[in-house]
Amino acid sequence: MIFGRHINRYYLRYAHWLLLGLASLIAVDYLQLLIPNLYQMVVNGLNQGWVLVDGVQLPFDMDFLLDRICMPMVWVILSMVAGRFLWRVMFLGTAFKVEESIRNRMFDNARHLSQNYYQIHKVGGLMSLFTNDLDTVAECFAWGIMMFFDALLLAVMAVAKMLRMSVMLTVLSLIPTALLLASATVVGRYMMKKWDIRQEAYARLSDFSQESFSGIAVIKAFVKEAKELLAFRKLNEENEVANIEHTKASVLLRVLVMMFVESVICIILGYGGYLVWKGSFNAGQLVEFIGYFTSVIWPVMAVSELIDMSSRGKASLKRIGELLDAQPDVVDAPGAKPLDHIRGEIEFRNLSFRYPDGEYDVLQNVSFRIEAGENVGLVGKTGCGKTTLVDLILRTYNVPDGTLFVDGHDVNRVTIRSLREGCAYVPQDNYLFSDTIVNNIAFAVDDWTKEEIEEAARLANVDASIRDFSNQYETMLGERGVMVSGGQKQRISIARALMKDAPILILDDSVSAVDTDTERTILQNLRQTRKGKTTILIAHRITTIREMDKLLYLEDGRITAVGTHQELYESCPGYRKMVDLQKLEEEGGSEHA
Ligand code: ADP
Repeated sequence: MIFGRHINRYYLRYAHWLLLGLASLIAVDYLQLLIPNLYQMVVNGLNQGWVLVDGVQLPFDMDFLLDRICMPMVWVILSMVAGRFLWRVMFLGTAFKVEESIRNRMFDNARHLSQNYYQIHKVGGLMSLFTNDLDTVAECFAWGIMMFFDALLLAVMAVAKMLRMSVMLTVLSLIPTALLLASATVVGRYMMKKWDIRQEAYARLSDFSQESFSGIAVIKAFVKEAKELLAFRKLNEENEVANIEHTKASVLLRVLVMMFVESVICIILGYGGYLVWKGSFNAGQLVEFIGYFTSVIWPVMAVSELIDMSSRGKASLKRIGELLDAQPDVVDAPGAKPLDHIRGEIEFRNLSFRYPDGEYDVLQNVSFRIEAGENVGLVGKTGCGKTTLVDLILRTYNVPDGTLFVDGHDVNRVTIRSLREGCAYVPQDNYLFSDTIVNNIAFAVDDWTKEEIEEAARLANVDASIRDFSNQYETMLGERGVMVSGGQKQRISIARALMKDAPILILDDSVSAVDTDTERTILQNLRQTRKGKTTILIAHRITTIREMDKLLYLEDGRITAVGTHQELYESCPGYRKMVDLQKLEEEGGSEHA
């Protein structure tokens, strides 16, 4: 049984099911303790030829066997089967509901968390929270409750019956129990620590496997399979060691329980035998006493299981709690209002930005203005801050007050959702889901027609490529489907963004993998369809951006020039150098061709 802020509510919410399960559990335990008395009657009947029932001496014959032993036994067994079925359904059914609810809460919180969280926590580790840890918590909830109450009830009822038979024999039998419980508590604490280490090792292993499979192409290209295997083996070994450490403690606990059972049997046989010899107990009573004690073995074993299980459950619940308690760091400011009908005017005012875990300002005193409906190109060397700058427009990270405005509104005063709804984004990695092409393109919109999808694909110049696939728009992409080329991926991502028809479109290096003719067609289509809407395009090729209304040149996090291609070429040495270098490369390329 485990308790904590994140699980207590379920005990209350499902109290009716749990109480029904508990009632059947009590009934089963009560019935189970009727059986030793039947043993006593059989042993004494065989020994003496008669049996004492409620002070009356009855002959031990076929009628007695049928009416007093067999029939009650059949009823007890049938009722126990029904009771066991009922409590299992109640407890396990509740556990499934708890598991579903916690998983929903975990996913719900995870999707609100900011990008920063996912940079710190790796996917493999997060996946193990949703699988391994959640399984452990659910198991602990269902079996934990069952074991706790079953052990408690059975132990109390059995001990009461034992006490009624012989106080001294019961007290002697309970001494090892006290010793066992004390040592089991210590071992339990140790096991909780070991389980935590085990889960951490498992998370590391799953992180590594996930990264290895995702990066398999790079590993193969660099012939680093052996290096990966060694690294995997090392992590797997750590996982094994952690498993062994935990299992050692778990086995120790089981051995302690076995020792307890055997020592109590010794006591019962020794002292109980003495009582029979003295004449204060008969053989049937000794068998009955052993029958009650047998019923106590399970509760004691259950206590050890419970300690093992709840130590694992607590550690897993703690890890799940960390995800459930994690707060998104990019949230709406109090009183933030939705920004309706965005026109697409963007202004950076003296904005400096440092990543939450960064050591220097990636953007420094950036100031510029993009008018609504402008086509703007963002250029600069790799690492100068272009992606960071557009990420800030999308409010992926927090910005200081009074530094970034959309349509004249400080982005910190408007809701993040309304701002993002006004933007369409083609990210640098062009992530596509393992789904059909049509579902990928339609991802951002709820209502769409086939014609709209095809038009978006046509504008992104990918319609013809899609029609070449045998299933056309219904072609599955990704792991379970076809692999598309880098250029096709980029163009499907552009089609997805165009479907949204947002007032602000951001393309981060989105045409780098297509040939110059295709690029020209896409840019022409963009110009025609996005008249009056803002488009920001990050690019390295000068051919991509030279026709834009305005270019922003970034150098080491600073905007060093703003103007048209011609203006920048004349006034900005860094830009001129870049253009000349590309020209030279092109000429060199054509000479070689
Ligand atoms: P560009 O898009 O111009 O190539 P970026 O905006 O991606 O450049 O990166 C600008 C700088 O910020 C780089 O020095 C990069 O290392 C750093 N950077 C990018 N992302 C992060 C991050 N999540 N945390 C810390 N530093 C980052």
